[in-house]
Amino acid sequence: MNEITVNSPGELPHAASALLAYAGNRKVMAFSGEIGAGKTTFIQVICRQLGVDEAEVVSPTFALINAYDVAGSSRQIYHMDLYRLESLDEALQIGIEDYLYGGDYCLIEWPELIEALLPDDTVRIKLEILGDSSRKILFL
Ligand code: ADP
Ligand code: MG
Repeated sequence: MNEITVNSPGELPHAASALLAYAGNRKVMAFSGEIGAGKTTFIQVICRQLGVDEAEVVSPTFALINAYDVAGSSRQIYHMDLYRLESLDEALQIGIEDYLYGGDYCLIEWPELIEALLPDDTVRIKLEILGDSSRKILFL
């Protein structure tokens, strides 16, 4: 397990590098933490580090799954925000298993309803609010 304290959003790139090094070749990552903990903000930083154009990364408020292109690659990164998912069945109907087992990065906010579908080696990230701009980030 790794634990990093970031004192401001400016320290997120360091945490993102540490997470990617920790994850190695594991590409499915489940992010938990209350609303405002910084899941989306951290995922945006991770996506940029993985080569996604800054302009492309937005909060997937209205889509359950956003696909981002990786510069210089034919691969995609999937950013899922499952806050509005209603059931495991709905996830299966949108073909979520194809994303989870397709070999591309899947960065998932609110993974609780699809827990049973997640690969065994899913990287778990927990964000905790310490103060206005400080967060504790745990990887396991
Ligand atoms: P979530 O997706 O967990 O609901 P968001 O990333 O949408 O959270 O929102 C986090 C908010 O907290 C943003 O407004 C962001 O600017 C702010 N924030 C302040 N400090 C940090 C930090 N160190 N890491 C992440 N977000 C931070
Ligand atoms: Mg979010």
